[in-house]
Amino acid sequence: MADLYLGGCWRDPVAGGTREIRSPADGTPVATVDEGGRADTEIAIAEARRAFDEGPWPTTPERERGALLLRVADLLEREKKDFARAESLDTGKRLVESEYDVDDVVACFRYFGGIAGTDVGRVVDTGRDDAVSRVVYEPVGVCGLITPWNYPLLQAAWKVAPALVAGNTFVLKPSELTPSTAIMLMRVLEEAGLPAGVANLVLGAGAEAGAPLAEHPGVDLVSFTGGSATGRLIMAAAARTVKKVALELGGKNPNIVFADADFETAVDFALTAVFLHSGQVCSAGARLLVEDSLHDAFVEEVVRRAGRIRLGGPFDPEAETGPLISAEHLAKVEAYVAAGVAEGAVLRCGGRRLPGPGNFYPPTVLDECSRDMKVVREESFGPVLTVERFDGEDEAVRLANDTDYGLAGAVWTQDAGKAQRVARRLRHGTVWINDYHPYVPQAEWGGFKQSGVGRELGQAGLGEYREIKHVWQNVRPRPQRWFRG
Ligand code: NAD
Repeated sequence: MADLYLGGCWRDPVAGGTREIRSPADGTPVATVDEGGRADTEIAIAEARRAFDEGPWPTTPERERGALLLRVADLLEREKKDFARAESLDTGKRLVESEYDVDDVVACFRYFGGIAGTDVGRVVDTGRDDAVSRVVYEPVGVCGLITPWNYPLLQAAWKVAPALVAGNTFVLKPSELTPSTAIMLMRVLEEAGLPAGVANLVLGAGAEAGAPLAEHPGVDLVSFTGGSATGRLIMAAAARTVKKVALELGGKNPNIVFADADFETAVDFALTAVFLHSGQVCSAGARLLVEDSLHDAFVEEVVRRAGRIRLGGPFDPEAETGPLISAEHLAKVEAYVAAGVAEGAVLRCGGRRLPGPGNFYPPTVLDECSRDMKVVREESFGPVLTVERFDGEDEAVRLANDTDYGLAGAVWTQDAGKAQRVARRLRHGTVWINDYHPYVPQAEWGGFKQSGVGRELGQAGLGEYREIKHVWQNVRPRPQRWFRG
């Protein structure tokens, strides 16, 4: 069966070919998919344009659009096991983590389906008895949605659900490394009764299948999640037609542990913060900042436990974390660790790839790091924890904010006042206090500084997909005689 979904039909690509997807855990083939090129994306844009301009989706009442999202959520829940299995095969992540991801995807569709129609704008006081004024929302138009490989279905859901509820049409371009669950999602949208052309799927490499979504004048908004370098390219390309742009980019996230933190819990979460999904998480707590007086004991315990983390494939019940997505990515992570050691970091554990098959790299701790090191400043996106020391609140904040990124961070202390003070001073889009990683679809997600532009989830996440229109009506029109003639 053809894998491109264009204008409500499954079609073979006109440009491109096929790609074999191989398991990151053992290199075995897990799927073969069609891939398109520029011509296919242009067809997808034309289909989305037609569905937007001719309707009926953009003018369907928002409550009805929300009801369709709730149906999608039910279907996804029914097919949870199949989705989770496909996600684990493509990404190599543990099956249980993929199951959590599907739960989050269901919650995302239910959230946006549930708030549909609850905020339809407002009436504004004109100060006149002959005029009424309303602020209303309209869909933006055709949306180009580009997603990465680390949370393929979840990142797609964060864009698809609000885009749909706001009345847009879209072209989704998932990562070429992990396309399977995007294909399955299109089947679910089709089964839920979405009109033809509202949802379109193109597969393929970013430079061919993805780039037209940022360049093409027929696209009104591009929402991208991925690396900062790609984000810059997309922003520059989108500037030519002044598209709306939403960017969810990388992070280099500080996890700040004060000396008065609950020791055992903070150690435990320091591991989860960075080694979950082998560090391939945009909000990974890859920069551990530890208060000087706690440093030695804390790092010793982190190293002891990191060394015991079991690696394995997605269906290995003993595995606690999995492989890196590709051999290229593994080499990149290795190079970051080597750069750290060359710049003076002390390798405390890990640091050497495991023998194949599979792209396995062990949890790695680099101690005595400083903020000038490449491995501290840049996102390795692997299981690499760098440790820096600080002395007191001000230095903790200064170090944590001394980064080009601003996605997320955490504060560990039993002093509630200190926790709140530090949380408010951090220039990061999400701050956890005595916790790491949880989120809910009701709360906005996104980055300060070079971690992105705009927000996903929450009311603001929906707002990205809405135009705001002011409608003024003179209810008693009569000549104004501004000009006398
Ligand atoms: P990437 O930038 O390499 O690719 C992301 C997507 O962009 C893929 O679909 C790719 O095909 C496409 N792409 C590549 N070049 C393109 C171009 N010129 N034009 C249009 N599309 C193009 O990122 P990745 O390696 O897939 O994902 C990892 C990155 O994603 C990390 O930096 C991570 O921090 C980030 N990320 C951020 C968030 C967040 O919420 N902020 C969430 C998940 C991942």
